Amino acid sequence: RIGTAALAVQVVGSNWPKPHYTLLVTGLCRFQILQLLKEKPYPVAEVQQLDRLEQFTNGHKSEEELGELSEQFYKYAVQLVEMLDMSVPAVAKLRRLLDNLPREALPDILTSIIRTTNQEKLQILDAVRLEERFKMTIPLLVRQIEGLKLLQKTRKSKQDDDKRVVAIRPNRRITHGSITEDEEEEEDHDDVVMLEKKIRTSSMSEQALKVCLKEIKRLKKMPQSMPEYALTRNYLELMVELPWNKSTKDRLEIRAARIVLDNDHYAMEKLKKRVLEYLAVRQLKNNLKGPILCFVGPPGVGKTSVGRSIAKTLGREFHRIALGGVCDQSDIRGHRRTYVGSMPGRIINGLKTVGVNNPVFLLDEVDKLAKSLQGDPAAALLEVLDPEQNHSFTDHYLNVAFDLSQVLFIATANTTATIPPALLDRMEVIQVPGYTQEEKIEIAHRHLIPKQLELHGLTPQQIQIPQVTTLGIITRYTREAGVRALDRKLGAICRAVAVKVAEGQHKEAKPDRAEVGEGEDCKEHVAEDAKAESISDTADLALPPEMPILIDFHALKDILGPPLYDMEVSERLSQPGVAIGLAWTPLGGEIMFVEASRMDGEGQLTLTGQLGDVMKESAHLAISWLRSNAKRYQLTNASGSFDLLDNTDIHLHFPAGAVTKDGPSAGVTIVTCLASLFSGRLVCSDVAMTGEITLRGLVLPVGGIKDKVLAAHRAGLKRIIIPQRNEKDLEEIAAPVRQELTFVLAASLEQVLNAAFDGGFAAKASLEHFSSKL
Ligand code: ADP
Repeated sequence: RIGTAALAVQVVGSNWPKPHYTLLVTGLCRFQILQLLKEKPYPVAEVQQLDRLEQFTNGHKSEEELGELSEQFYKYAVQLVEMLDMSVPAVAKLRRLLDNLPREALPDILTSIIRTTNQEKLQILDAVRLEERFKMTIPLLVRQIEGLKLLQKTRKSKQDDDKRVVAIRPNRRITHGSITEDEEEEEDHDDVVMLEKKIRTSSMSEQALKVCLKEIKRLKKMPQSMPEYALTRNYLELMVELPWNKSTKDRLEIRAARIVLDNDHYAMEKLKKRVLEYLAVRQLKNNLKGPILCFVGPPGVGKTSVGRSIAKTLGREFHRIALGGVCDQSDIRGHRRTYVGSMPGRIINGLKTVGVNNPVFLLDEVDKLAKSLQGDPAAALLEVLDPEQNHSFTDHYLNVAFDLSQVLFIATANTTATIPPALLDRMEVIQVPGYTQEEKIEIAHRHLIPKQLELHGLTPQQIQIPQVTTLGIITRYTREAGVRALDRKLGAICRAVAVKVAEGQHKEAKPDRAEVGEGEDCKEHVAEDAKAESISDTADLALPPEMPILIDFHALKDILGPPLYDMEVSERLSQPGVAIGLAWTPLGGEIMFVEASRMDGEGQLTLTGQLGDVMKESAHLAISWLRSNAKRYQLTNASGSFDLLDNTDIHLHFPAGAVTKDGPSAGVTIVTCLASLFSGRLVCSDVAMTGEITLRGLVLPVGGIKDKVLAAHRAGLKRIIIPQRNEKDLEEIAAPVRQELTFVLAASLEQVLNAAFDGGFAAKASLEHFSSKL
């Protein structure tokens, strides 16, 4: 219950990579704790001061004995100091101190200077009685003197700077012969020695070893209180920890790899095939200088998890580096060590984390790298990814080359459009399209539901989600290309069921067996419930739920709320002047409504819905084509004129208004929408379309067909009009989806209009009508 009061004078250090602080304090006096007032967050106590210097000097009870003791102590102290080099100013100062300070203060001061263990120092601090303190310190002084004598004998020839005050501490190996483990830990000096040993035994490159040895030499000479001490130490510790030569052994067997990939992921055949090819080449040719795989696709389609599976098949460590929003090249390449708070880049940090030099690094979201004043991180990545350069990647923090050639890099992105071209050039892009509803149901039942059940501590005996319910979640509660929202919704269901199950376990009462569903699982549970009956019979509590809890549409509504997406398509198409287009976004395909209305005016076209320039041009093209073909299709404005813009304004709107849209592929949709407006006819409610148009009415191919078709399928549309030259893209669409849809391949706008309206669009009839008149 004895402590030392002190005044904190200086705090230096940093939190990185681990907290390391040096505290400089001035000791004031000893105190005794009278009463502990509180312990948290830090102890507060009522204390009593124990040391008072004036009390020492003015008359003490056993003054004589103490005088003798202090005299003896003084002699030893002088002897010790005189053994040192008096020319060092600090030693001279110490000598003066011995004479000037009150004798009673000397034990404390000398104990802190000579070489003692923390244990011994604490003992001296604990000794409240002066007499005791002197008695305890004298043997320490004697030990030090003996040690110094020995040292001087062995080092007689070597007159170097060892005699500085820091070196008053002779090497304990000589004094004691051996050191205990305890002491070893306590002493920082020993830590440095250990560090040096580690550096020498580590397998770092020659260049790195040279740098490290130089740094450790500097470290030894540096006082610990210097901020640079901690920095240098951190640097050296990182260098020692880096896996210079440590690697895992690849166990690559294509058949096993195929099984792992198939077990972990349902569907995505093309991606799996390409990954297996890549792995096969690696098995045959043990050289990594191949392209870097880049998986491109909407979120939640399993890009990251395929990366993880690849690491698993290879038996390698896996590390994910999220690059989204990284705008500073030091994030990749590290900060120079001269900066305050400098640290290595993410690549080196990742290597330190995994502890081997051949992990699988997943560079997530490479399309979201940003540029800023701090340089272009993409440029730094180029060096990392280039197999010709990355064997000597130099992180600014390390300042020595590290060989990255054994690391397997895999990148993921949502779109290739924003990946810097130079970076894209180094990667082999593999498109990962969204899933069809059937695939999503399978993924949910094979992977997501078992995973969520395990996560929530549920068993299939407690919850049953039939396939129709999963389909309901997919169509009514999610509209996405991947399965992430589906996974979340399943999680929400499991949480809700977990509450019910936990409640049920508390208040087990008589279950209403009549309503328990069918199936073996239920029967099993009925037996369990019967047992439970005898344990508790609290009739007044609510009935526990019947097991397994069956998630039907009612349960779905209770848990997830009303459906988020209705089948609004047919409703919206109940007026002329609306058509459904298909759009591609980095998040997958989407259906897009185009609405048009006309009003009296001066022939102006208004476009709303945050459109880009290309889309605006498409709208102008569409109007021009319709105006030039108005007679042919018998399209008139409100006053019956074939000049559609005569006294008429047209407004085209693309919901949702807050999302920026651009691209040429809305051309055919705008034409159809306007044709519907001017003819007063409804567009078929199950038709979606995409395609670029020309002024002469041709339909040109567009991109992203696969994602667009999947989106149309998700939305329950049946007929899809695509440009004829996109026919080849249909092959990539899964057969079940293809079978459910009708594709119309259109080469001209005439074909588009014919397919979009029930019974075709009457161009021919009107032409015949004309010709018969002639
Ligand atoms: P991404 O990286 O493409 O955004 P993730 O890899 O994070 O997506 O996938 C999200 C979740 O969906 C993961 O839990 C993953 O296991 C699951 N998942 C996605 N696709 C499949 C699939 N084909 N089979 C099984 N699980 C899948």
